[in-house]
Amino acid sequence: MSSHKIQFQYGMSIPEFLSHFGTEAQCAEALKRSRWPKGFRCPKCAGTQHYLVVQGACKLYQCGGCRLQTSLTAGTLMEHTKLPLTTWFLAIDLISQAKTGISALALKRDLGARYPTAWMLHHKINTAMSRQEAARLLGGAVQLDDAHLGGERPGGKPGQGSENKVPFVAAVSPNGAGQPVRLKLDMVSGFTSDAIAKWADRVRHELL
Ligand SMILES: [Zn+2]
Repeated sequence: MSSHKIQFQYGMSIPEFLSHFGTEAQCAEALKRSRWPKGFRCPKCAGTQHYLVVQGACKLYQCGGCRLQTSLTAGTLMEHTKLPLTTWFLAIDLISQAKTGISALALKRDLGARYPTAWMLHHKINTAMSRQEAARLLGGAVQLDDAHLGGERPGGKPGQGSENKVPFVAAVSPNGAGQPVRLKLDMVSGFTSDAIAKWADRVRHELL
């Protein structure tokens, strides 16, 4: 998933935030600026000619060259959403600004949303944030190691294969002098080369 960054100013009050991102048009404009800072560019043929196709509440950008249709939210965690962009933006702001985290229940209250909606937003936004964090942490030459968390239970196999332990990969990002400066822990399905390759592939895609 390509990452389209929208800068939310840290420490902005709710009224200030709403003055910037309080309407669908403001949120759509912010998405458009972050996706196409120099104007529309077709993701398939790189053409700039385009026109708008409106299908109900959904606005699609159709390329004048190859006719590919794309939306402002394509490739973002908001893709195919039925929720207003204002709800997404406010949820992202509330979650990213909460120093000690915010529960799905608190998000439900703050957004005035139904619990399943708040839970879905909470899950998707937190997952995206931890992926970004992983990509940030894994810059530079990264050293990997495997480890297990958890205790033994009677009957469990000893050593790394114990089914009661959680396998994870520890990635250490060193500074220029080779000293470890950042540590990232990621759970994996196991230490098979397939599981590690999948993990590395995921991280590499997040870095693109
Ligand atoms: Zn095109």
